[in-house]
Amino acid sequence: MLKDYEFWFVVGSQFLYGPEVLETVAKRAQEMTDILNASGNLPCKLVYKATIKTNAEVTDLVREANYDTHCAGIITWCHTFSPSKMWINGFVNLQKPYCHFATQYNRSIPNEEIDMDFMNLNQAAHGDREHGFIAARLRMPRKVIAGYWQDEDVQKRIGSWMRAAVGVVFSRGLKVMRFGDNMREVAVTEGDKVEVQAKLGWQVNTWPVGTLVENMDAVTDAEIDELMATYQSEYEMATDDIETVRYQAREEIAMKKMLDKEGCKAFSNTFQDLYGMKQLPGIASQHLMSQGYGYGGEGDWKVAAMTAILKAMSEGQTGGTAFMEDYTYNLDPDATYSLGAHMLEVCPSVAAGKPRIEVHPLGIGDREAPARLVFEGHEGPAIVVSLIDMGGRLRLIVQDIEAVKPILPMPNLPVARVMWKALPDLVTGVECWIAAGGAHHTVLSYDVTAEQMKDWARMMDIEFIHINKDSTPEKLEEQLFLNDLAWKLK
Ligand code: MN
Repeated sequence: MLKDYEFWFVVGSQFLYGPEVLETVAKRAQEMTDILNASGNLPCKLVYKATIKTNAEVTDLVREANYDTHCAGIITWCHTFSPSKMWINGFVNLQKPYCHFATQYNRSIPNEEIDMDFMNLNQAAHGDREHGFIAARLRMPRKVIAGYWQDEDVQKRIGSWMRAAVGVVFSRGLKVMRFGDNMREVAVTEGDKVEVQAKLGWQVNTWPVGTLVENMDAVTDAEIDELMATYQSEYEMATDDIETVRYQAREEIAMKKMLDKEGCKAFSNTFQDLYGMKQLPGIASQHLMSQGYGYGGEGDWKVAAMTAILKAMSEGQTGGTAFMEDYTYNLDPDATYSLGAHMLEVCPSVAAGKPRIEVHPLGIGDREAPARLVFEGHEGPAIVVSLIDMGGRLRLIVQDIEAVKPILPMPNLPVARVMWKALPDLVTGVECWIAAGGAHHTVLSYDVTAEQMKDWARMMDIEFIHINKDSTPEKLEEQLFLNDLAWKLK
C-alpha cells in the first residue's frame, strides 16, 4: 500500500559556511518537505531526514534506510556544496531506490540581494554537479530530476518516480502462488526462478490444485452469498445460470484465502491442470485482479508478478491495469489494430462500461462452461509490458499503444476485449516487438508510464527496451545487438 511507504529527503551541505547557513538549510528543507507533501502531487509521504555534513552521517543514514521497511527510497539535493567523497561509504551500501533532485530554494536570482553570502548559501547549481559526479562514478542506479520544486510538473515527476520506487520495494517482497505448471511446450512463459528471486526478489512457488479444491469444498453458502452480492452490485448479471456464477465465487473465495494465508499478491493457473474443478476460474480471477492481485494464464508466473507490480505502482489511479494477450489483427490499411483478449481473464479495471457476467462454453480445458466478465476496454494512451528470460539476464519490453473503442461490436466474441494501435504503427510495432522477443502475454496499463517502467528496470538492474513513436526495426536491432554485448560484460 502506498500509504505504508515514505521517502527520505536528504540534503547535502558541509561545515564550511558556519552554523547559520546550516540552520537555514535545515529550515528550508523542512519547509520544502511540508509544501511538497501538501501539494497533493506525491503519492507517498516525504520526510526531511537530515542535512549531511560528514561521512559518518551519510553512512548511518544509509544503514538506517536499508533496514527501515517503510523507507522506499531517498531523495537527495545539495542546497550548498557538499564534497562527495564523504558520501561514498554510504552510497556503496545503499539498497534503496535513489533520486537526485536538482532544484533550488529560490526560483529567481535576486538582483539587489545577491552577494557572496547569497552565493554561498544558494549554490545548488554547483553542489548538485559535485553530487551528480559521485553517483555517476559509482555507477549507481538513480533518477535525476531537475526543475523548480514548486512547479507542478516537477512535483508530478517526483511523484511518478516514487511510484516506480514503490514497485521496486513491492517486487522485492512479492510472493507468487502457482496452481499447476506452465502450459505444456510453451517457451516464453518459462524462466529461471532462482535468478528472478535473486534479481527481483520474487518468491515463486507451487501449491497443489488438490489443496485449492479442498479449500473450495470448505467455502460456505453464506460466504458465496456475500460475494454474489458484490458481483451483482459491480457487474450486470447477464445470465440465468446463477449456479455457474456461484461456482466462480466459490473458486475466488478459496483462492483468496490461500493467497492471503501465504502472503501472495499474484497467482497463475492453467487450463491443463484443473483436476477436481468444474470450471476454469473466469470471473474469479478477474475479480481478484480488480482487487490488486496479479494473474497470469497458462502458468505464466512472470506476467502474474508483473501485473501485481504495475497494480501496486498505480494504486489509487483509475485508468486500469490488466493481464492481456495479443490475439488477432485488423490489417485494413485505413484501420490497423491489434485485438487483445484472453480466454477469460482480463481485469475489469480497464472496462469502458459496466462489465456483464456471462456464461459460455470454453473450447479448451475440457470443463464446464465458465462464468466470465465480458466488456470493452476504454480508449486512451497506454503501455503493454512483457518480461522475458533471455538466459543469463531478464529483458523488460515496453511498447506504447493507443487504445481505441473497438471498431466492431463482435457480438459473438464471448470475452472481454481491448483494441489498440501499436506505436510507431501496427506493422512496424509488431516487427519491433517480435525482434525483441516480446511475449504474447503482457500487462496492459493506462496508468503506469514507460518512463516509470524504465526507472523500475534500472533500479532492478535488468535490460530495458522501449518501443515507441520513434522506433525503427533497424535502430532496435542495433540496440539489441549492443545490449547483448553489454549484458555479457556486466
Ligand atoms: Mn494466454
